[in-house]
Amino acid sequence: MSAGPVMPVSQKQLALRPVAGSPARGSPIAASPITEGTVEITGGFWGHRQRQNREVTIPHGIGMIEKSGTLENLRIAAGMSTDEYHLPVFRDSDLYKLLEAIAWERAHGADRDQEAFFNSSVELLEAAQDPDGYINSYVQVVEKGRRFGDPEMGHELYCAGHLFQAAVADARTAPGQARLWPVAGRFASMLLEVLRSEQATLVEGHPEVESALVEFYRTGQDGRYLELAEDLLGRRGHRALHWRGFGPAYFQDDVPFEQARSVRGHAVRCLYLLAGGTDIYTETGKPELLTSALAQWDDMTSAKTYLTGGVGSRHKDEAFGDAFELPADRAYCETCAAIASIMWNWRLLLLTGEARFADLMERTLYNGFLVGMGLDGASFFYVNPLQSRELMTRSPWYYCACCPPNVMRLLASLEHYLATATAEGIQVHQYATGRVRSELGPRGALELAMETGYPFEGAVELRAVAVPAGASEVAVRIPSWAGELAATLNGKAAGGVPGPDGYYRLRREWSVGDELVIELPMRPRVVRPSQEIDAVRGCVAFERGPLVYCVEGRDVDKSGNLPSVSVIAGMAPTEAPGLDISGQTMVALKFQGLVRASSVSAKWPYYEQSIEAAGPAEAGGRDEHRNGDGPARAELQAVPYFAWANRGPTEMRVWLPESH
Ligand SMILES: [Zn+2]
Repeated sequence: MSAGPVMPVSQKQLALRPVAGSPARGSPIAASPITEGTVEITGGFWGHRQRQNREVTIPHGIGMIEKSGTLENLRIAAGMSTDEYHLPVFRDSDLYKLLEAIAWERAHGADRDQEAFFNSSVELLEAAQDPDGYINSYVQVVEKGRRFGDPEMGHELYCAGHLFQAAVADARTAPGQARLWPVAGRFASMLLEVLRSEQATLVEGHPEVESALVEFYRTGQDGRYLELAEDLLGRRGHRALHWRGFGPAYFQDDVPFEQARSVRGHAVRCLYLLAGGTDIYTETGKPELLTSALAQWDDMTSAKTYLTGGVGSRHKDEAFGDAFELPADRAYCETCAAIASIMWNWRLLLLTGEARFADLMERTLYNGFLVGMGLDGASFFYVNPLQSRELMTRSPWYYCACCPPNVMRLLASLEHYLATATAEGIQVHQYATGRVRSELGPRGALELAMETGYPFEGAVELRAVAVPAGASEVAVRIPSWAGELAATLNGKAAGGVPGPDGYYRLRREWSVGDELVIELPMRPRVVRPSQEIDAVRGCVAFERGPLVYCVEGRDVDKSGNLPSVSVIAGMAPTEAPGLDISGQTMVALKFQGLVRASSVSAKWPYYEQSIEAAGPAEAGGRDEHRNGDGPARAELQAVPYFAWANRGPTEMRVWLPESH
């Protein structure tokens, strides 16, 4: 076997988290990552979810990985089984994502069963690995070892990338004892040779390996992996990839990365590539990479993102649509795309320190991402529309099971996306009950205990539990939806406003016990779409805090009337605390609406608008006269979007027409 890269020698150089930025690039935040400090989630909303991930979701995933044939595929490759291969071709990556989740989970305390699964999986991978380091069960078993024969859909480097990311998590959480790292190292070393020789023009159809190779470089400090990542990124854009009806844009192979200005094609592919391109920029500083990434971010957020932060408007190719093509009912919004968006935005945040990236992370976390898993922690949505005309429920697993283990790895590492530190102090980007500690050199450590009932309550308490000598700064992101805030220090008005960068900053000589409380306005909000978004013109949606709300059919009536519900214009929704869904207490919203009997009938569903009544078309009110059975006014309930479909199968909608 060829030698793998050396083990990481100095963990002090690395943040023990996903995405260890290079200290060399001059980023305001990544320049001083929280290297020797900790971020920890200890309770509250995310504490519950992290605990559930550890106790329910990951064990469920281990069971499903076995049941789905994912391990069996590797046993066949290892010559230990003669079973039939279990498609799809990228099934190995499901295991890698689960192993990554288990590795991050280690930081919360080793779990014997999970470690046993991790170790037995590593042994299986070692057994399946070819003598030259190659592993991909599909190619080894089904393709009889014919490698790189299907760049478009073979997912070989995609799977390799997930192996590398799992190995990076292993190396960072078990320094000196990582077992997956050497396995991945042998494969990486083999790829280094092959991708520079006989496969020197290979373009991988599903990006992912680019980011993984940068992280691999950061962990092992072998610059050849960064060069390979750059090489692979640079190969794209020459229109080499085609598959059935899917052209080069589907694969982001239509224009070179540096020249791209819009998000396009398969959303997960596009966002993983952007994460990789951003990582490469972080390490190399080539300005055209950042120019492209920021232009694509502008394109995505101004015209191709749903209210939930979800992305991907088309089912056919799981792709971004045209600008403002954002249908609620046909939204694709794959859970993996939400995760990829969070990962990419975290990289942009580390690079720039700009709140807009943390804002989008928050929106996506609480809505487009979280909806992808049931409150039971063991059921999943792959597609996350903003309206469902069908009775929908989550599934325990999928044939194409990319999303569930992706949820697991993000939840297992979530604390690392909350805060950063510089020599000046600590920056809190997301709120969660827990603590943030950073060593500020010889001055000592600054440690904050954070407590909050977010996302349902607006108070965030930050208490100093360890303080450095001299002045230091605590910066707290104020969400763009908040607009205003009240800040108190030790019970007295602390003054100050969010700066133009979206952060509230307080610089002082902190004393142990000092308590900074930020109070965010949690009033319900009525939100309208831009006029350009045809699909939901004339509709409104409700938000409160970071949460998007929706109406479930089961809360209207049992006769399928959800499509005919409208909101009475000009009446603000009110809060209704104490909603219990699956034992979790939430704040519901109540609003005044009109409910019509189901309009499904043999009638032609269009009508001439009388001249006298001509005016702005309104989806809800103008056609009442044609319908014999008039609408009934009712107080209706909206629930957090992430929590829908947890009380049995139901229809749902986020956007509701207004009646005037
Ligand atoms: Zn997925």
